Amino acid sequence: MRVAVIGAGIAGLTAAFRLRLAGEEPVVFEAQAQTGGVIGTERIEGFLVEFGPTTIQAANPVLDVLIRDTGLEPDRLPASKTARKRYIVRDGKPVAAPNSPADLVTNSLFSARAQRRALREPLIPRSRPTEEESVADFARRRFGPEALDYGMDPLVAGVYGGDPKRLAIRHAFPGIWRMEQESGSIVRALLRGRKDKKSRMASGMFSFRKGLGQLPEALSDALGDRLRLSTPVRRLERQGARWIVSGDCLLGGHEQTAWSESFDAVVYAAPLHALASIALPEGPSLKPLTNVVYAPLVVTAMGFRREHVGHPLDGFGMLVPGVERSIRILGTLFTSSIFSGISSASSTFQSDIARAPAGHVLLTTIIGGMRNPALASLPEKEAYDLVLGDLRRLLDISGEPVFRWHTSWKLAVPQYNIGYGKTLAAIERLEASWPGWFMAGNYRMGVSIGDAAKSGEEAARRCLL
Ligand SMILES: Cc1cc2nc3c(=O)[nH]c(=O)nc-3n(C[C@H](O)[C@H](O)[C@H](O)COP(=O)(O)OP(=O)(O)OC[C@H]3O[C@@H](n4cnc5c(N)ncnc54)[C@H](O)[C@@H]3O)c2cc1C
Repeated sequence: MRVAVIGAGIAGLTAAFRLRLAGEEPVVFEAQAQTGGVIGTERIEGFLVEFGPTTIQAANPVLDVLIRDTGLEPDRLPASKTARKRYIVRDGKPVAAPNSPADLVTNSLFSARAQRRALREPLIPRSRPTEEESVADFARRRFGPEALDYGMDPLVAGVYGGDPKRLAIRHAFPGIWRMEQESGSIVRALLRGRKDKKSRMASGMFSFRKGLGQLPEALSDALGDRLRLSTPVRRLERQGARWIVSGDCLLGGHEQTAWSESFDAVVYAAPLHALASIALPEGPSLKPLTNVVYAPLVVTAMGFRREHVGHPLDGFGMLVPGVERSIRILGTLFTSSIFSGISSASSTFQSDIARAPAGHVLLTTIIGGMRNPALASLPEKEAYDLVLGDLRRLLDISGEPVFRWHTSWKLAVPQYNIGYGKTLAAIERLEASWPGWFMAGNYRMGVSIGDAAKSGEEAARRCLL
């Protein structure tokens, strides 16, 4: 079976890899000159820069098998123990966040009043399962207003660059929503989960020795000449049971050649907004898909001499709640602390896996999102000044950065807002009305790398039925 896979982000690459292993003939069309979509890594001036994501959540069965099958297991790099600690900014200072239900009542991030309110959480009745409640309403109802401001709001900024008043708890955080539905209480469900030794051991974050870019690279190597880069798809037509896929091949500069090929099936793994620029066959309305909002984000990597940063950087990073109005960044990863270059096997510094050269630190800061989308369009120099200003205040930075890098994502992360159920239903309608059409991507099962890969795997599985 010949399958056209549109988009070589992690979802499309996973789908194509699985189809290939099953003996089928996938061809991946990618608009850009490289694969990986928003995942990409480069070592620049000794600093390991991640242009998009920095870490992967461990214990994802789809990714675990993918990593094994691509031979990447020896290159897996777990986050340091230090990275278990996370900071939330409160009153203009990073404060260590609770990392267990018991911590909720002893931690200094929340006031005594908020802690008393959180203790009542197990007594709060669950919502109706049919309701699409916002993340903000959910957090306020179950834990109180401070838990929203200093708990859920910064989490939403970190995962979605999103607005908790618009995101739907059921779609944006299905795991948390299910805890309420199944256990009647988040605290009860978490306490029960902690007793499960296996889930405790498996949690944590990881990357690879040379950064996250190794994952799409390994998948691309396995696909070889089945990848067509700089080849955006422009038109999809149905001809009997077959699909005719057409587009351009960008030959450098503006030179283009048109192409057209016939396939048995199509896996659409490009973002939903890209559907608007592809001519498609007659079918159900695409509005619930193309209307999905994508948050814009800018990723700023900055390197400093270690002695110029007063903060110990002893954690994963810090997130900034929206109520901390004097600070405009969404959050900062202490990238060189997460992957310090000192592995558990040897206590010596290894510059090939460290994210910053010896004697330096790397901080990765995100700005923009739905909280302040205009910041994502700032000219580079203004964005640097804004980030540096906030970092100086929060992390006690004295010297100038010795390194900086700016990556702008105009349409970065899809927002699983209230009403997203209609988008998911429209995707299913489209798949039902166009035989041989399958959809995968971070708009389907969650926005994490693991979720996007899972959607690719799932699309390949259905394609093979
Ligand atoms: C700044 C940032 C930080 C993040 N941090 C994390 C993190 O730390 N951990 C985590 O788990 N997740 C993180 N995420 C989320 C996660 O990285 C993404 O959701 C996931 O990688 C998206 O994969 P995808 O394959 O669905 O889409 P994409 O990566 O968007 O890939 C889609 C591909 O389709 C291509 N395409 C578009 N139109 C066409 C066309 N017409 N023809 C052919 N190709 C086309 C695009 O060029 C692109 O390569 C982050 C995301 C961003 C933006």
